[in-house]
Amino acid sequence: MPPERDRSPTPPDPALVPGSLPLRAAGALAALRAGELRLTRYAPAIPVSAALLDRLSLGEGGTPLVPVDPGVWAKLEFLSPTGSFKDRGAVVLVASALERGAHELVADSSGNAGSAIAAYAARASLPCHVFTPASTSAGKQAQMRAFGADLRLVPGDRMAAAEAARSYLNDHPAFYASHVYDPYFLQGTKTFAFELWEQLGTAPDRVVLPAGNGTLLLGAAIGFRELLQGGLIDRMPALLAVQTEACAPLAEAWRAGADRPAAVRAQPTLAEGIAIPRPARGAEILAAVKATGGGVIGVSESQIDQARTALAGRGLLVEPTAAAAWAGLMHVLAEDGQARGRTVVALCGSGLKALAG
Ligand SMILES: *Cc1c(COP(=O)(O)O)cnc(C)c1O
Repeated sequence: MPPERDRSPTPPDPALVPGSLPLRAAGALAALRAGELRLTRYAPAIPVSAALLDRLSLGEGGTPLVPVDPGVWAKLEFLSPTGSFKDRGAVVLVASALERGAHELVADSSGNAGSAIAAYAARASLPCHVFTPASTSAGKQAQMRAFGADLRLVPGDRMAAAEAARSYLNDHPAFYASHVYDPYFLQGTKTFAFELWEQLGTAPDRVVLPAGNGTLLLGAAIGFRELLQGGLIDRMPALLAVQTEACAPLAEAWRAGADRPAAVRAQPTLAEGIAIPRPARGAEILAAVKATGGGVIGVSESQIDQARTALAGRGLLVEPTAAAAWAGLMHVLAEDGQARGRTVVALCGSGLKALAG
């Protein structure tokens, strides 16, 4: 029998594509590289050794800003090396930990911070112990183990995991690589603001972002404040924090006009990444939101679920926690009159970790 003929069409010669002449490409690529958008670009504004940052970097930062509606952009933080914005904070925190003489790291997390710290600990050849709620999704647990972390599953909520980490530290001389307490983490997440300013050519008018412990929100507040103090922008964008009503100490405080987080009992939620009943920096988050003319929005579980489906329908596969921000954006847009200005929504965590299995 004669061999079957290959019916696929012949691909065109790539050199025939306009603009693909080798010399032009080389020149353009050199210029691009000089201006490469990634966290290490801002090393002069980050208080750790630039050489150390370069050594530990996994290429974090520089996430795409894509238009999703007129005047609305989504910042795709879920396209980070470990699938969340936590990489921005983790690379700076681990670099700083090395500078402070760390030999071993301890972290507690609902999953994504633990994954990020475990990845950069691996990069730095540091042993790493992560305390996480036993309910943390299987994908995140597998990811932390894959990076070689010693994963300790703790019964109870996110607060119980933090207590377990602290009691471990009482008996073991390790470095507490806490994304919540250690201020160097926020020195990494502040680059989120720098990038928005560069990508838009100006600051946005408002930014919608999820808040549990507020590590992205507080980092963004620091970053925009530094741009303001440097005379690079002329006012702070309004920061709008989004919480799930199932665990809403900040949203409840905001509604009550209080300046400290409300006492709440966490209900089960799809949004595990923002289920923080007692945020250690809660008062700071409320103050930052207030100072920028922003607010705190509570969204329901069904709105989060609908948002996840709506985003996937636009080609954006995020975890439920990240979809909460989109549900918050829907609230904000529904309340808008005519002039809405430039709005950015942060999409923080990858849906790949949350797929059933
Ligand atoms: C960590 C995380 C959050 C919440 O960040 P906080 O620092 O707790 O405010 C939101 N979404 C995703 C995907 C996260 O990983």
